[in-house]
Amino acid sequence: MSDKRKNTAYLSAPVNAIIEGIYKEKTTIAQILEHGDFGLGTFNRLDGEMVVMDGIVYQMKADGKAYSVSMDEQTPFACVTFFAPDTTDEFPDPPGEDLFSLVQRIIPSDNMLYAIRIDGTFKHVKARSVPPQDNYRPLVEVAREQPEFEYTDISGSMIGFHTPQFLSGVSVPGIHLHFLSDDKTCGGHLLACDPGPISVGIQHVPQLTMGLPMTLDFLTMGFERDTAKDLEEAER
Ligand code: ZN
Repeated sequence: MSDKRKNTAYLSAPVNAIIEGIYKEKTTIAQILEHGDFGLGTFNRLDGEMVVMDGIVYQMKADGKAYSVSMDEQTPFACVTFFAPDTTDEFPDPPGEDLFSLVQRIIPSDNMLYAIRIDGTFKHVKARSVPPQDNYRPLVEVAREQPEFEYTDISGSMIGFHTPQFLSGVSVPGIHLHFLSDDKTCGGHLLACDPGPISVGIQHVPQLTMGLPMTLDFLTMGFERDTAKDLEEAER
């Protein structure tokens, strides 16, 4: 693999499409894996949360459980890269700080895209997933009914990205992480976390490739609305 390919993230579609309720696209899981072995996203009909870890795709459905995924399933939004951390920091005894603020503190620049992988034990994890939806129901409404799951003293991995604020139309700005338990049985989109002993791997990703969907829904959608507030509510 060339270094150039390693340091590029691939977005299958701009996040604004799912914010506006376009939950069906034609990108397959097989196509996603051509662009990375690491990342996150969702599935067509917004059927759960996606984790891509070590080249394997996991689907955390609305029951909070992780399922295997076939190569021909499709996604309306996924972000992946080939993960090769520049730095790995060990935190044997994190200073009583929420995981998001800990990661924010060690990220070198707000203006860079970073791939982030955290492995270890977590004292408390609050995650969510979403049940399947029909098109055109804005994500912010769906997220108000999301099932949430809480875990205590659980081992696993957090997989995701830090995205600069100025990319908020194309990806989720700030730190966006999905959780997968060590035994690969449960997880979801991370809402809050109190870390135990962890290691944090960070890779800078200075290039972004993005697909623009060729579906009629996408091509005819009006994107004039400012979706920043919806995104903030739906993803936090
Ligand atoms: Zn998410």
